[in-house]
Amino acid sequence: MDGFLVNETPLRVGVGREPPLGSAVDIAVYMVNGIPCIPGSSLKGLFRSYLESIAASKGYKVHEPWDERAVEEEAERGDFCPICGIFGNTELASHVRVYDAYPKDGIFHKFQKTGIAIDREFGSVRPGLGPFVEELISPKTRWTFRMDIINIDIYPEKSTDDARVQLLKTLFQTLTSIGLNIGSRKSVGCGLIRLEEAKWCRYELSDGLLRMVCGGEIK
Ligand SMILES: [Zn+2]
Repeated sequence: MDGFLVNETPLRVGVGREPPLGSAVDIAVYMVNGIPCIPGSSLKGLFRSYLESIAASKGYKVHEPWDERAVEEEAERGDFCPICGIFGNTELASHVRVYDAYPKDGIFHKFQKTGIAIDREFGSVRPGLGPFVEELISPKTRWTFRMDIINIDIYPEKSTDDARVQLLKTLFQTLTSIGLNIGSRKSVGCGLIRLEEAKWCRYELSDGLLRMVCGGEIK
C-alpha cells in the first residue's frame, strides 16, 4: 500500500548531539544528505506499540518484542500472538515492511526553536546547560508512505476471523482519521501524523512473477 503521511504538528529533527531533554523516542526525523527522513523502522515501531495496546484491550496476551520467553512459549505452542504474526519475532519473519518516508517532491520547511534545559526533578532551569536550539519540520509536510504486507489477506476486504487483519484495519482507520503520535512527549505538541490518499494494490505470485491483481482506496 502507499499514500502520504502528513504531520499535523511539527516534527523534531535529530542532530548529532541531542538536546539535553531529548531522547531517541522523541526524534521523528533524521536529516539524510540535507533531506529529512522518517525512518521506516520508527514507523514500524509506532504501529507495533499502537497495535499492542489495541490487542491488549481486546484481551490478547501481549508481550514486549524482546521478551524471549514469551516468544519461545508461543513457538512451542505453534501459535504466535497476532502482534508477532504481523511484526515478527526472533523465530518468525515479519509480515510487514515499512519504508523510509521522505518529503513529497523534496518539499519541506525547517525552523528552529530555542529551548531551555529544565531539570526534570526540580522543575528549574538546569545550571551549566545553556539554551539549546531545536530543529523542527513545519506542519503539513507531505511524506511518501509505503508499506508492504506479506501473506496477510487484508485487501480486498472480506469477512475474516484473522485477528491480524482486524488489527491492521484498526491501524489504518486510526491513521486516516485522528492520526498517531510519533513522539513520546505528546504534551509539547509534536509528532502527530495522519495518512492521506492511501491506496492498496494486491499482488499475487504466478509463474515466479508478482502480478498485480487488483487495487483500491483505503477509507
Ligand atoms: Zn507474540
